[in-house]
Amino acid sequence: MTFQIQAIDIGYLNLQDAANVFLIEGPAGFALVESGTATTRPKLVSQLEQRGVHPTQIMDLLLTHIHLDHAGAAGHFAAGDSRVWVHSFGVPHLIDPEKLIASSRRVHGEMYERFYGDLWPTPQSQALAVCDGQIISAAGLEFHAIETPGHARHHHALLLKHADQRHIFVGDALGIAVPNSDFISIPTPPPEFDPIAWQQSLQRLRDASPTHLWLTHGGLQSSNAAAALQFIDRVHARLEEESDFLKKQAIAIMASGARESGAYQQALLAATDEYKNWLHPQAAAAGVSARNLAQFLGDSFLLMNLQGAIRAASARA
Ligand SMILES: [Zn+2]
Repeated sequence: MTFQIQAIDIGYLNLQDAANVFLIEGPAGFALVESGTATTRPKLVSQLEQRGVHPTQIMDLLLTHIHLDHAGAAGHFAAGDSRVWVHSFGVPHLIDPEKLIASSRRVHGEMYERFYGDLWPTPQSQALAVCDGQIISAAGLEFHAIETPGHARHHHALLLKHADQRHIFVGDALGIAVPNSDFISIPTPPPEFDPIAWQQSLQRLRDASPTHLWLTHGGLQSSNAAAALQFIDRVHARLEEESDFLKKQAIAIMASGARESGAYQQALLAATDEYKNWLHPQAAAAGVSARNLAQFLGDSFLLMNLQGAIRAASARA
């Protein structure tokens, strides 16, 4: 059972190396892990065609979770007859994307229209629910679903074994490898960010003994077992630091007043500044360029992370 994996840069946010989808060619055809957004779809289609693959040849689309950078074009693939595999909690949102659209608009604000575009519903018959431990047969291969909540409750990593290789498509469970640097950024969006569940998910990934780690945001980050464990350890340390910092900020913001109050908004802005002053020097020290600081760790990203931390802190309070 040999296979070939190709990372395709979809030009997410009009940036280079910001997000990938993975084309997997197996003995029985093609599968895709992640769909990209509706707006990146034309570029993806042309990249597939350059590789001699027509989108209707993608019989199976596997999604790590339903955030729009991962699943926004699922309905378009479904219209071309792909089966769409997603965590059972994600299925209703693919069939009827209204809530997903509303929540993404809340999280991404004015960036939504620019970067996410139109969501097409996936017909119920093509939206297939995945649960933890399930083996998905696609392209003549077996993908093992590993439930990995933390970034999102409904998140799976997908393990593909071959001889002594163990490839895992980790979605966002190992954060974002910022291009041309050693920096791993931890995306903590509302409403499902859960730092404790996330740490447990890192252990599940270690336990799966990976060799190859494929990050949706960052591509291939390791190609042997030792490097894979080292990478997961780095994410672990980063997650711990980041969630400790964010938790303190979240508690201070929540204590400042009611959500609608001026004091709360002031506190949120002040925390965004403080977060930036804390994070950017660390990222710069790990080689992130000034330009990528603005593009990958800009105010809207920081604000999203703070809002995720507030939601997480209030859920536990
Ligand atoms: Zn993502």
